[in-house]
Amino acid sequence: MNTKELKPAAVFEQFSKINEIPRPSKHEEKMIEYLGNWGKSRGLDTQIDETGNVIIRKPSTPGMEDRKTVILQSHMDMVCDKLVDLEFDFDNDPIRTYIDGDWLTAEGTTLGADDGIGCAIELALLDSNDIEHGPIECVFTRDEETGLTGAEGMKADFMTGDYLINLDSEDEGEILASCAG
Ligand SMILES: [Zn+2]
Repeated sequence: MNTKELKPAAVFEQFSKINEIPRPSKHEEKMIEYLGNWGKSRGLDTQIDETGNVIIRKPSTPGMEDRKTVILQSHMDMVCDKLVDLEFDFDNDPIRTYIDGDWLTAEGTTLGADDGIGCAIELALLDSNDIEHGPIECVFTRDEETGLTGAEGMKADFMTGDYLINLDSEDEGEILASCAG
């Protein structure tokens, strides 16, 4: 199996593009630019706040206009750790992923699935044309891992949705009702 065969394909396609973009905590400039361009190039309402958090809004699919707006949230930064003897520059080098048995992993570094896979789910949904949904707001906060300064710096009116689903839990198929996942 290669990484192109992972399912849902649309999510893993986004994830592999995300993993080409360096995004250490507090140095997410390239990822902020990527997300900003990603949303704008698709004609979606895209905003970046003073802190560097990004929001991309997508209108509902036909017939779902009266639904409540749902916010999907992930964080764009990743923990950068590597094997001691590996030469790797987290500010510039793409993460090199590969499949090892049942696991998607990375060559000598952290994988960045926390929370790259949350970001990938949001982008896949924004890019989809075969999923029915009400109005959605996809939020990507910066610097979750080293102080939550992205969330801290966000103004109250940056998001306008009624419900928020955080995409940073570790347990597939489980939804936690709490503030800290
Ligand atoms: Zn996380």
